[in-house]
Amino acid sequence: MAASDPRSERGQRPVGPAADRRQDRPEDRWQWQLQNVVTTAAELSGRLSLSEAELRGVQGAERRGLSLRVTPYVLSLCDPLEPSCPIRQQVIPTAVEGHQVAGDLSDPLGEQAHEVAPHLVCRYPDRALLLVTDRCAAHCRFCTRSRLVGGGCGAMAIDELEPAFRYLESHSKLREVIVSGGEPLTLSTERLVGLIARLRRIEHIEVIRLATRAPAWLPQRITNELCEALREHQPLWVMAHFNHPKELTALAGRACERLVDAGLPVMSQTVLLAGINDQPTVLESLFRGLVRLRVRPYYLLHMDSVAGGAHLRTAVQRGIDIMETLQGNLSGIALPKLVIDTPGGMGKVPVGPDYVVAREPGRTTLRTHRGVTVELLDPPAGAGEMGRNSQT
Ligand code: SF4
Repeated sequence: MAASDPRSERGQRPVGPAADRRQDRPEDRWQWQLQNVVTTAAELSGRLSLSEAELRGVQGAERRGLSLRVTPYVLSLCDPLEPSCPIRQQVIPTAVEGHQVAGDLSDPLGEQAHEVAPHLVCRYPDRALLLVTDRCAAHCRFCTRSRLVGGGCGAMAIDELEPAFRYLESHSKLREVIVSGGEPLTLSTERLVGLIARLRRIEHIEVIRLATRAPAWLPQRITNELCEALREHQPLWVMAHFNHPKELTALAGRACERLVDAGLPVMSQTVLLAGINDQPTVLESLFRGLVRLRVRPYYLLHMDSVAGGAHLRTAVQRGIDIMETLQGNLSGIALPKLVIDTPGGMGKVPVGPDYVVAREPGRTTLRTHRGVTVELLDPPAGAGEMGRNSQT
């Protein structure tokens, strides 16, 4: 079994509170990872052999908005010599970020226009997005919120979020709150749990989702102490974010398993990224790995039209073609839904191969993943009525 296989440490890992106390190397502590983030070209060039494009990218990143920020752990996943490394491309800026193309947007999902209270975005009738911090462990070059991530505000004080809580209280149609950021798991457990407990006091909020990249980017954060604290606030769903099988390290695997073992359902969203994961074999490996960890691949997201991110965005057809290949190879639990979050915050649209070849009254012709066409007949008119009469 490969060293990076999340199952390779099974049977050896400590369980229970003792596991947290076994963090005897400084780098095993999540706080150490955040304290030792790499933010400059000089620091980075000591770890990676930077290409000219990367060097210029790092130098211009701050000016363009989303600065360089990468933890020692994420850096350890990067190939030190190869700029096309799928982890490296996600976190190391390149000079092409300076190129804008038609359709690029600084706020692709129109979140500012849908802000209903400070730090609270509402784009759907039953759910709202609460942005609790602008801080992340590492900055992803394709981030939808690159306009605000790393802006310097840090974690919001609970008082600053009070107008958002009051809005949620006064809108009883809202049933779900997605706690996001930035990375909400950069907050201390005490602050995070205080915030979740405040949400729990709102009677009509049934479900809380925690949108986090920590299982992939900061797995040290998923301590038993955190899981124990979160399990008190069920139903709480963890929306993780994995983009490449290289992210499924033993540490990341253990983080996911801890969350699941604590009774927290874990789903994963994957952003389709050109030159990083836009191959069916890569995604198949990722989705199979997630399912082995009991993490459900939930969405394969077409990349948002983030300004300066065109080099990482695929054509829509690429995602559809990949889904067509995966459809025949992966079971339903491993197959996410391909969605496009439409510009301007108009909502998510599922897309995929068209399996309906023809439709006429009473008859549908379908194309299966084997390439054969199959006809399906609707029940004759009145069949339901006949069945009900025969039972009496
Ligand atoms: S972790 Fe999430 S919020 Fe932070 S930069 Fe990456 S995609 Fe954006």
